[in-house]
Amino acid sequence: MQDRDLSYLDEVKICPHCKEKMFCCEAPQIHVGDGLGWGSDVLFICLNDHCSLFLKGWEHVEEKYGHHASYRYMELPGSKESNVMMVGNKDAFKGSLVDKEAILNQNSRYKKEKEAVEKLQTCVQEKNLAPVLTLLLDEAAARSNRKSAITYLQQLNDLSCIDPLRNHTFRDENFRYEVNMSIKRILAANFKKECPHCAEIVKSQAKKCMYCNEKL
Ligand SMILES: [Zn+2]
Ligand SMILES: [Zn+2]
Repeated sequence: MQDRDLSYLDEVKICPHCKEKMFCCEAPQIHVGDGLGWGSDVLFICLNDHCSLFLKGWEHVEEKYGHHASYRYMELPGSKESNVMMVGNKDAFKGSLVDKEAILNQNSRYKKEKEAVEKLQTCVQEKNLAPVLTLLLDEAAARSNRKSAITYLQQLNDLSCIDPLRNHTFRDENFRYEVNMSIKRILAANFKKECPHCAEIVKSQAKKCMYCNEKL
């Protein structure tokens, strides 16, 4: 996902025909071969069923083109230019409203991923496990970023990574395996092991778990 201009999320547009607030909708896919395109992923459309343009449109289209359709008023984000979309029924576009909240969430996730990738460069000298965990625990992060986070995991050799990693479900089997191997190496490098009964980390020589008292 690229950094996109999300300023349309703050944009409020009012339909000049009915003075109602317009809705932000996903732009319909247009075949590249047609040489057309909106140049925008979203469109603002008046979805008011009582909008005069929409009400009058049916007759107009019938007379002019002889088929059953009408118009919805439309503007592109960041533009005041008037446009219309032809629609075959009153529900067109009502199913493609842009979920602004989801876009903002997705964007903040992406920002966190980017920051974490930058912090990876210095995480070993700063003994900073946080960016490594951010990437490993984010199932939506890029594979390549998560893969490099795994290599830093071993360099950091920080036992506190084990709990959050164990508590996470890795969807990718290869990741699960690699994380598991890293944990094993980190434990060994720290002369520790996980108690098979309670999963607490104990000394590798321990004969009895200090947490659950089970024999090891
Ligand atoms: Zn309107
Ligand atoms: Zn135990």
